[in-house]
Amino acid sequence: MSASAPITHDVLTVPRKMPEGAINLVGLTRPAMTEALIAHGTPERQAKMRVNQIWTWIYQWGVRDFAQMTNLSKTYRAELAEHFTVSLPEMVSKQVSSDGTRKYLARIAGGHEVEVVYIPEEDRGTLCVSSQVGCTLTCSFCHTGTQKLVRNLTAGEIVGQIMMVRDDLDEWPTPGAPKDETRLLSNIVLMGMGEPLYNFDNVRDAMKIAMDPEGIQLSRRRITLSTSGVVPEIARAAEEIGCLLAVSFHATTDEVRDRLVPINKRWNIETLLEALREYPRLSNSERITFEYVMLKDVNDSDEDARRLVQLIKGIPAKINLIPFNEWPGAPYQRSSNNRIRAFADIIYKAGYASPIRTPRGEDIMAACGQLKSATERARKSRAQIEAETHSGGPGGE
Ligand code: SAH
Ligand code: SF4
Repeated sequence: MSASAPITHDVLTVPRKMPEGAINLVGLTRPAMTEALIAHGTPERQAKMRVNQIWTWIYQWGVRDFAQMTNLSKTYRAELAEHFTVSLPEMVSKQVSSDGTRKYLARIAGGHEVEVVYIPEEDRGTLCVSSQVGCTLTCSFCHTGTQKLVRNLTAGEIVGQIMMVRDDLDEWPTPGAPKDETRLLSNIVLMGMGEPLYNFDNVRDAMKIAMDPEGIQLSRRRITLSTSGVVPEIARAAEEIGCLLAVSFHATTDEVRDRLVPINKRWNIETLLEALREYPRLSNSERITFEYVMLKDVNDSDEDARRLVQLIKGIPAKINLIPFNEWPGAPYQRSSNNRIRAFADIIYKAGYASPIRTPRGEDIMAACGQLKSATERARKSRAQIEAETHSGGPGGE
């Protein structure tokens, strides 16, 4: 990210203070919040109803101050304020692209930073959410992959990104007002920094809140989780999250995929496809999106396109072709537009939708695979990052 970009707004310079020892309610599952309320004096028989009321204030109306939760008694509001907070990641900066894409830098506990991207389109607004600071995996075409994993995001930090952007879009309804069906932030893709299936529990809890009728209220069909292919977690994602699935496929032979998506050395193409065949059945979901980054002379031949349609036979699928987004020092080039169109045509003629993803927010480095928190590297030594990875990371490659 260029600090001199004229469109950057520095939003926050001084970190906000949290009341000491207070428990953040954002990101707690219903059982966890019930337990926390009871532990701090809420009578057991009321706890379930209180959770519903508090969820509605927090997630539907965007209220952060307990004093404003007017269907709770004054005494109870004061008690809540004593023990709990409603806290979000802090927005450090915001950049707006010439195409309307917004890229935010969000600061989370420990001073780490993650990027969140909002992409407005005619009929929807998609939020690209991060699940980790950095990534344990090292896909060779991905900018985030050059940043070591620093830590997993908590469920509160994941759902908090959605709330932070709703704040910026000024999209919280007035309590009691009729529901507005046209949402600026209508879709979520877990395609920011990190591998969501290596932070399974937190991603699941956050997405459950995003889908809950008393939570953010987005349909599960408006949420897409993208994985590089963590095979053992795919069936679990179907069963426990049930959102749509996208897979970073990117190659049609193990030899090439080993190089592009190194997790392929652990779970190869055949193993991955086996898991994918089960997914729509398990989650009663729609088609699986196969993401395919177009790299010049690496994976973009007619032969690749033909092999791809052979491989995915029998899987309800669409293939999303992603023109490679360059980043400083990237070892690849984007395929030409003619090449991408020819590739798309072969797939389309085989009966699959093959949309070519228009790169968005390129002028602010907000496009797919360009995300990386530069500040993170500046502040930490490699040794420090490594130590944290081993103490808190989920393993991986
Ligand atoms: N870790 C997950 C989700 C984050 S990456 C995953 O790998 O699926 C989101 C998407 O952006 C993935 O399909 C990824 O392969 C793609 N991507 C990464 N770097 C890219 C780049 N430089 N240009 C285009 N797409 C890229
Ligand atoms: Fe990690 Fe996904 Fe980037 Fe691979 S493409 S390094 S899994 S964020």
